[in-house]
Amino acid sequence: MPEQVLAALKVAASTMEFREMEIPEISPDAALLKVEVAGICGTDVSQYRLPLRGSPIIMGHENVGYLSRVGKLFAERKGVKEGDLVFLEHYLPCGNCEWDHMGEYRHCTATDWFYDPEAIRYGYTPISTPPALWGGFSPYLYLAPNAIIHKVPDGVTPVEAGTATPMANGVQWALFEGGVGYASVVLIQGPGQQGLSCVMASKHAGADRIIVTGTSKDARRLEVCQAMGADDVIDVDNEDALERILEITGGRGVDVSVDCTVGAGTAPTLLGIEAAKRRGAVLVVQGEDSEFPNFPIGRMTRKYITMKSARGHSYRAVELGLHQIASHRFPLELMTTHSFGLEEIDYAIKSVSGDGAPGAIHVSVFPWGVS
Ligand SMILES: [Zn+2]
Ligand SMILES: [Zn+2]
Repeated sequence: MPEQVLAALKVAASTMEFREMEIPEISPDAALLKVEVAGICGTDVSQYRLPLRGSPIIMGHENVGYLSRVGKLFAERKGVKEGDLVFLEHYLPCGNCEWDHMGEYRHCTATDWFYDPEAIRYGYTPISTPPALWGGFSPYLYLAPNAIIHKVPDGVTPVEAGTATPMANGVQWALFEGGVGYASVVLIQGPGQQGLSCVMASKHAGADRIIVTGTSKDARRLEVCQAMGADDVIDVDNEDALERILEITGGRGVDVSVDCTVGAGTAPTLLGIEAAKRRGAVLVVQGEDSEFPNFPIGRMTRKYITMKSARGHSYRAVELGLHQIASHRFPLELMTTHSFGLEEIDYAIKSVSGDGAPGAIHVSVFPWGVS
């Protein structure tokens, strides 16, 4: 075991620097994770662009790796041993509140930065908080006593397990919140990794018809959606999406629409409302600053529509996401498009935002190098 590791640190807006970091002593109630894969998502893109508020940060919040040094108490409490392959949630909950008892860690004030900007979680905590190794863009990462880990099922590779975060979001948003199930007719807006995961979850749950919308730039992604089980794809730049949806559904509309287009403005929400059948459900996932002036609230009542919002995932959604990955029912390799070594971290993040490698859907970073 080395005493130091070379980690990538965000030292300023859109600026990475490599620094030797001390590997900490591991107490009996903690552990060390040898990071195999760190996934990158849209949140990394927006976070990377922000100025630094305090000390540098080791980013990387979608982490899969092998338990390396495991404290005796940690092993007992979590039911794990050295060498186990695990997926790490990025939440670091207090462990005592009602949300934590329900596995809904994202609402715990100790780890939800919407309540407390100082709340800690993996991938966003500055190195000034000991022992500094709080992110996956590093060969090793510190597992605190309150870390939430999931054992990766047998037969699932680290790269596949690296998609557990979007997969869990797909389960949470489409199934748990949207209510998609057997025979549902579903509209998924946005064919990125979250939208794709909603397609897979809906398909797995028995949806009858899955319609996905995207823009002209999304041509390849829409093809991947079809490979994952989408029945119809619509390019909103070149087609009248509502007309197509009504045509596909015989004028009835969809049971559920899920908006995975964060940042695309109000058009997807409007389409969701208009495309929903009477008593349909509309699920939106929006950024904190999103606004909707002149929201057509009357249409909601007229159509008897339920509107909900969601972000992140619960413990159970992760377990089901891993279960879905282990089913090997979907060609996941079409989604895991790009792999980079840690030295290319800046380019890897830019690839997710569309300013780097073309055609990126899910991007993985391998702190030990791409094999
Ligand atoms: Zn993420
Ligand atoms: Zn809590």
